[in-house]
Amino acid sequence: MSSHDHELHLAFFPFMAHGHMIPTIDLAKLFASRGHKATLITTPNNADFFAKSIYKSQQLGHQISLISVKFPSAEVGLPEGFESLSLGSSPDLYQKFLKAIPLLEKPLDELLQKHRPHVLVADTLFSWATDLAAKYGIPRLIFHGTCNFCVCASLCLSMYKPYKKVSSDSEDFVLPNLPNEIKFSRNQIPSFIMQEGETEVSKVFRASVESIYRSYGTVFNSFYELEGAYTDYYRNVLGRKCWNIGPVSLTNMDPEEKAYRGEASTVDHGCLKWLDTKKPNSVVYVCFGSKQKFTNEQLKEIALGLQASGQQFIWVVKKDKKDEGNGTWLPEGFEKRNEGKGLVVRGWAPQLLILSHEAVGGFVTHCGWNSILEAVSAGVPMVTWPMVADQFFNQKLVTQVLMIGIEVGIQWVGDSAKKDAIKMAVTQITAGEEAEELRNRARALAETAKRAFAEGGSSFNDLNSLLEELASLTNDKSLFP
Ligand code: UDP
Repeated sequence: MSSHDHELHLAFFPFMAHGHMIPTIDLAKLFASRGHKATLITTPNNADFFAKSIYKSQQLGHQISLISVKFPSAEVGLPEGFESLSLGSSPDLYQKFLKAIPLLEKPLDELLQKHRPHVLVADTLFSWATDLAAKYGIPRLIFHGTCNFCVCASLCLSMYKPYKKVSSDSEDFVLPNLPNEIKFSRNQIPSFIMQEGETEVSKVFRASVESIYRSYGTVFNSFYELEGAYTDYYRNVLGRKCWNIGPVSLTNMDPEEKAYRGEASTVDHGCLKWLDTKKPNSVVYVCFGSKQKFTNEQLKEIALGLQASGQQFIWVVKKDKKDEGNGTWLPEGFEKRNEGKGLVVRGWAPQLLILSHEAVGGFVTHCGWNSILEAVSAGVPMVTWPMVADQFFNQKLVTQVLMIGIEVGIQWVGDSAKKDAIKMAVTQITAGEEAEELRNRARALAETAKRAFAEGGSSFNDLNSLLEELASLTNDKSLFP
C-alpha cells in the first residue's frame, strides 16, 4: 500500500526556541501538503506565532492544526510567560528552562492518549519522547534542528574523545573516521559534550544521544547532495535510519508566509524596498539569528568594520531604540553617515525574503543551521561567525567541505572579532578575488537544493520513502487496533 492511500496523522513537538520551532512548523506544513494530517504541539505563549505561520496552509485546505500544552514556568522558577529560549538565555534561565523540559512529558502523554496520532516527531532534546511513543505503540522520529554533519561529528567526539589526546585547549585534533579531515580544538566544542560530570546541559545532551539509538529514526532538514557522505555515515557507520527532506523552508511559497517566520514581519518591510534600489549582489546582509548575544563593544566593532569595508549592508540588531541610551552600542552619527549605504534593522527581519533578493551578495551569519540552509537555498555565500553550540560544526561544513564561505576568524566560544577582521571578511565576500568563485559555487548549490526539494528530487523521494515506511507500520493492526 502506498502512503498516498493511507492518511497518516503525525504529531510534531518542537523544543521552544525559534531555531527549532520555525523548521518544525515548516516540516508539519510539508507533511500536510502531501495529504497527511499534522498536529503541532506548543505552549500558550508560542501559540500565536504558530497559528499565524500555519494560516496559509489551512486556507489551502491542508489538515494542519495546533494544540497547546501548559508550560511549567512556575514549577521551575521561570517568569510567567517565559516559554521560549529565544526570549533570553542567561545561564540561570537556561538551566531552569532545561529543568522544565521533562515536566512536559505528562501533558504530552495525555495528549497522545486523547488524539492517538500514528507517529510522534519530537525534538532531539525531548529524549523521553521515545519511551512515551512506545507506550502508545507508535514510532518516535527525532527532529534535529541541525545537519547530518554536525550530528555525526558530535557523535564521533562522544565515541572517540579525541579531545583527550591534546595538551592544550587551542591545539587542533582531527575527528577520527569522518569522511573529511575535520580539525577542531577543545575551545570550539560545546563544553557539555566533553563534560564527564552531571550538569543540566550535559544530562540533556547525553540523553538525547542515547535516544538516537533507540528511536525509530531521524528526520533532517537537509538534502542528500549537500552532505550525502555524512548521511551515509549516519546510516551505515552509526547504523541509524534517517531521511533528508529539506530544505524545509522551501515549503513556503507565498511571500506572506516567507515574511512571517518566528515573529511578525511583512512583505513591504522597508528593508526590502531599500534592496529594490540596489544593484545585484551589492549588499551584505548581517544577522546573527533569533537571539542577541553581543556586548556593546562588539556591536560597535561590527559597526566600524561595516563602515570601513565601504560595502553596502543591512545589519539586523536585536535591540530597540530604547536600548541605545547615548549611542552606547552604535557610534555617534553612524546611521546618518551611512545613509543610503547601510541600513540598521532593529528587531526581526524578513530573512527568507532578504536572502532571496537579488541585491544580496553575501551573508554574515552566526552559523545557525536554519540560516545556513536558507543562504544555501538562496545561493548566497557566507562570512561565518560562530558563537555557541552547533555553530562551530556548521562553520566547518560551510568553509571546509562546501567551500561557500570564509571565516571571520572566531577561534573559541566567547571570542570576539575586531573591526579590521570584519572589514576584511565583508570586503572579500562582496568584492574580493574569491567572491565570484564562492558565489558561483553557492548558486550551483542553490539550484541543487531546489531540485532536491522539487518533485522527483532526492528530498522529495526521501520523504516518499519515509511516508511509505510509516504507512506500512500503521497497517500493522497489532499497533493500531
Ligand atoms: N530569523 C528571521 N529574522 C530575524 C532573525 C532570524 O527570520 O531577524 C529566522 C531565520 O530565517 C531562521 C531562524 O530565525 O529561520 C533562526 O534560526 P537559526 O538556526 O539560524 O539560528 P538560531 O536563532 O536558532 O540561533
